[in-house]
Amino acid sequence: MKICKNCYARQSDDRVFCIDCGKKLGKSLSQNEEAALAESEADKFSKRLSGLDDLALKPFEKILGSVSALLAVISAALALAVFKDYAALIAAAIFAVCSVFIFFRKALLKIDCFFASLKYDADNLSPSYFAVFCFKAATYLLFACGAAVLIYSALAALT
Ligand SMILES: [Zn+2]
Repeated sequence: MKICKNCYARQSDDRVFCIDCGKKLGKSLSQNEEAALAESEADKFSKRLSGLDDLALKPFEKILGSVSALLAVISAALALAVFKDYAALIAAAIFAVCSVFIFFRKALLKIDCFFASLKYDADNLSPSYFAVFCFKAATYLLFACGAAVLIYSALAALT
Protein backbone atom coordinates (compact mmCIF):
# COMPACT_ATOMS: atom_id res chain seq x y z
CA MET A 1 0.00 0.00 0.00
CA LYS A 2 1.05 3.57 -0.66
CA ILE A 3 -0.23 6.71 1.00
CA CYS A 4 -0.33 9.94 -0.97
CA LYS A 5 1.75 12.61 0.79
CA ASN A 6 -0.46 15.31 -0.67
CA CYS A 7 -4.01 14.15 0.06
CA TYR A 8 -3.39 11.09 2.34
CA ALA A 9 -5.51 8.83 0.15
CA ARG A 10 -4.55 5.14 0.12
CA GLN A 11 -3.25 3.81 -3.15
CA SER A 12 -2.29 0.38 -4.36
CA ASP A 13 1.41 -0.43 -4.75
CA ASP A 14 1.32 -0.50 -8.54
CA ARG A 15 0.23 3.13 -8.89
CA VAL A 16 2.79 5.78 -9.70
CA PHE A 17 0.45 8.75 -9.49
CA CYS A 18 -2.28 9.39 -6.91
CA ILE A 19 -5.66 8.53 -8.41
CA ASP A 20 -7.30 11.16 -6.17
CA CYS A 21 -5.14 14.23 -6.63
CA GLY A 22 -2.68 13.33 -9.39
CA LYS A 23 0.53 13.90 -7.39
CA LYS A 24 3.42 11.52 -7.84
CA LEU A 25 3.46 8.76 -5.20
CA GLY A 26 6.55 7.76 -3.25
CA LYS A 27 7.61 4.39 -1.92
CA SER A 28 5.21 1.72 -0.65
CA LEU A 29 4.78 1.38 3.10
CA SER A 30 6.81 -1.36 4.75
CA GLN A 31 4.98 -4.23 6.45
CA ASN A 32 5.79 -2.74 9.85
CA GLU A 33 4.34 0.63 8.85
CA GLU A 34 1.16 -1.00 7.54
CA ALA A 35 0.79 -3.00 10.76
CA ALA A 36 1.29 0.15 12.88
CA LEU A 37 -1.32 2.00 10.82
CA ALA A 38 -3.88 -0.82 11.17
CA GLU A 39 -3.22 -0.93 14.92
CA SER A 40 -3.68 2.82 15.43
CA GLU A 41 -6.93 2.67 13.47
CA ALA A 42 -8.22 -0.29 15.46
CA ASP A 43 -7.28 1.63 18.60
CA LYS A 44 -9.20 4.73 17.48
CA PHE A 45 -12.20 2.59 16.61
CA SER A 46 -12.27 0.75 19.92
CA LYS A 47 -11.88 4.05 21.78
CA ARG A 48 -14.89 5.41 19.94
CA LEU A 49 -16.89 2.28 20.66
CA SER A 50 -16.06 2.29 24.36
CA GLY A 51 -16.94 5.97 24.65
CA LEU A 52 -13.43 7.21 25.35
CA ASP A 53 -13.28 9.75 22.56
CA ASP A 54 -13.14 13.44 23.47
CA LEU A 55 -16.81 14.23 23.10
CA ALA A 56 -18.29 11.01 24.44
CA LEU A 57 -20.99 11.55 27.04
CA LYS A 58 -20.05 10.56 30.55
CA PRO A 59 -22.82 9.20 32.83
CA PHE A 60 -22.75 12.41 34.87
CA GLU A 61 -23.31 14.47 31.71
CA LYS A 62 -26.22 12.27 30.66
CA ILE A 63 -27.82 12.91 34.05
CA LEU A 64 -27.10 16.65 33.82
CA GLY A 65 -28.57 16.75 30.29
CA SER A 66 -31.70 14.88 31.34
CA VAL A 67 -32.12 17.11 34.42
CA SER A 68 -31.71 20.19 32.18
CA ALA A 69 -34.33 18.96 29.73
CA LEU A 70 -36.71 18.19 32.60
CA LEU A 71 -36.09 21.57 34.26
CA ALA A 72 -36.67 23.28 30.89
CA VAL A 73 -40.14 21.72 30.67
CA ILE A 74 -40.90 22.41 34.35
CA SER A 75 -39.81 26.06 34.20
CA ALA A 76 -41.75 26.63 30.99
CA ALA A 77 -44.85 25.15 32.64
CA LEU A 78 -44.28 27.23 35.78
CA ALA A 79 -43.78 30.37 33.72
CA LEU A 80 -47.07 29.82 31.95
CA ALA A 81 -49.18 28.52 34.82
CA VAL A 82 -47.83 29.76 38.15
CA PHE A 83 -45.18 32.48 38.02
CA LYS A 84 -46.50 34.18 34.91
CA ASP A 85 -43.18 35.96 34.40
CA TYR A 86 -40.47 36.06 31.79
CA ALA A 87 -37.64 35.00 34.11
CA ALA A 88 -38.92 31.42 34.35
CA LEU A 89 -39.35 31.36 30.58
CA ILE A 90 -35.73 32.53 30.18
CA ALA A 91 -34.65 29.78 32.60
CA ALA A 92 -36.56 27.27 30.46
CA ALA A 93 -34.74 28.49 27.33
CA ILE A 94 -31.33 28.32 29.04
CA PHE A 95 -31.97 24.77 30.32
CA ALA A 96 -33.15 23.72 26.87
CA VAL A 97 -29.95 25.08 25.26
CA CYS A 98 -27.93 23.34 27.99
CA SER A 99 -29.45 19.93 27.22
CA VAL A 100 -28.97 20.50 23.48
CA PHE A 101 -25.32 21.38 24.21
CA ILE A 102 -24.87 18.11 26.09
CA PHE A 103 -26.77 15.68 23.87
CA PHE A 104 -25.92 17.20 20.48
CA ARG A 105 -22.28 18.11 21.10
CA LYS A 106 -21.10 16.07 18.13
CA ALA A 107 -23.71 17.59 15.85
CA LEU A 108 -22.65 21.07 16.99
CA LEU A 109 -19.03 20.18 16.27
CA LYS A 110 -19.98 18.91 12.81
CA ILE A 111 -21.72 22.21 12.09
CA ASP A 112 -18.62 24.04 13.37
CA CYS A 113 -16.38 21.90 11.16
CA PHE A 114 -18.61 22.60 8.20
CA PHE A 115 -18.25 26.37 8.60
CA ALA A 116 -14.52 26.04 9.30
CA SER A 117 -14.12 23.96 6.16
CA LEU A 118 -15.71 26.77 4.15
CA LYS A 119 -13.04 29.13 5.47
CA TYR A 120 -9.96 26.95 5.74
CA ASP A 121 -10.55 24.22 3.17
CA ALA A 122 -10.07 21.47 5.78
CA ASP A 123 -12.46 18.53 5.82
CA ASN A 124 -11.30 16.58 8.81
CA LEU A 125 -11.16 18.92 11.78
CA SER A 126 -11.14 17.09 15.08
CA PRO A 127 -11.74 19.03 18.31
CA SER A 128 -8.74 20.53 20.08
CA TYR A 129 -8.40 20.23 23.85
CA PHE A 130 -9.42 23.87 24.02
CA ALA A 131 -12.60 23.22 22.02
CA VAL A 132 -13.52 20.27 24.25
CA PHE A 133 -12.85 22.40 27.33
CA CYS A 134 -15.02 25.22 25.94
CA PHE A 135 -17.89 22.83 25.18
CA LYS A 136 -17.87 21.52 28.73
CA ALA A 137 -17.35 24.91 30.37
CA ALA A 138 -20.25 26.38 28.34
CA THR A 139 -22.49 23.49 29.39
CA TYR A 140 -21.87 23.96 33.13
CA LEU A 141 -22.18 27.73 32.79
CA LEU A 142 -25.54 27.34 31.03
CA PHE A 143 -26.79 24.98 33.70
CA ALA A 144 -25.72 27.37 36.46
CA CYS A 145 -27.39 30.34 34.68
CA GLY A 146 -30.62 28.38 34.22
CA ALA A 147 -30.65 27.38 37.88
CA ALA A 148 -29.94 30.97 39.01
CA VAL A 149 -32.72 32.44 36.86
CA LEU A 150 -35.18 29.75 37.96
CA ILE A 151 -34.41 30.35 41.65
CA TYR A 152 -34.67 34.11 41.09
CA SER A 153 -38.09 33.79 39.44
CA ALA A 154 -39.31 31.38 42.14
CA LEU A 155 -38.26 33.84 44.86
CA ALA A 156 -39.89 36.72 42.98
CA ALA A 157 -43.12 34.75 42.67
CA LEU A 158 -43.18 33.78 46.33
CA THR A 159 -42.53 37.20 47.83
ZN1 LIG B 1 -3.27 12.36 -3.58
